[in-house]
Amino acid sequence: MIYFDLFCVSIKQDYKISAMLNLILFGPPGSGKGTQAAKLVEKYGLLHISTGDLFRSEIDNQTALGMEAKSFMDKGQLVPDSVTIGMLKNKVLANPEVNGYIFDGFPRTIAQSEALDDLLEELGQPITALIALEVEEEEIVARLLERGKTSGRPDDADESVIRKRIAVYLAQTTPVYEYYQQHEKSVSIKGMGTIEDIFHALCTEIDRHL
Ligand code: ADP
Repeated sequence: MIYFDLFCVSIKQDYKISAMLNLILFGPPGSGKGTQAAKLVEKYGLLHISTGDLFRSEIDNQTALGMEAKSFMDKGQLVPDSVTIGMLKNKVLANPEVNGYIFDGFPRTIAQSEALDDLLEELGQPITALIALEVEEEEIVARLLERGKTSGRPDDADESVIRKRIAVYLAQTTPVYEYYQQHEKSVSIKGMGTIEDIFHALCTEIDRHL
């Protein structure tokens, strides 16, 4: 079984581009979004927005939003759209002076996609591209179980929660790929191999939009 990780790109001014590139990094849990996003931020000077990281920060700060999110995350379920979209909007609107955004782990539903498009349309900065990383299911499970040994994340520690997250991804999130494909913005690349090889493939795809 093949899965996706999607990106939409944004680019740095000194990187010879005239318009912002806004990238969606899309894909199943454990497909390497966070790893690759960190490298892309360094190269292109984008703002990385990971909804998973934002939720974990809220949990660490023991906010009401964090406590609500945790009850869903620990079970491998999606946090409700209303909560997630509101948090994402706040983060984008608080950071207007950027070269572009890498959205990681968002949008995960069609409703989130529509909300993101509405927000970016208001800002006059549409999604440029969505890039998906393809990774086989058993590879994903193995990566997450390995990550769970050190990440301290409860959702990585239990194989049944990992499999639930994959099932949720297939049912609720893969339609997002098709949603952006309607506008010919979706592309997928192989998410297996070395980190550098995958990064190179991503950059090749992103550079087409510069
Ligand atoms: P992973 O990609 O490894 O599952 P994330 O850090 O992206 O890790 O997400 C962890 C959890 O946070 C998800 O399983 C889900 O419960 C919640 N979450 C993150 N992003 C979203 C989102 N866009 N919509 C709903 N829930 C989300």
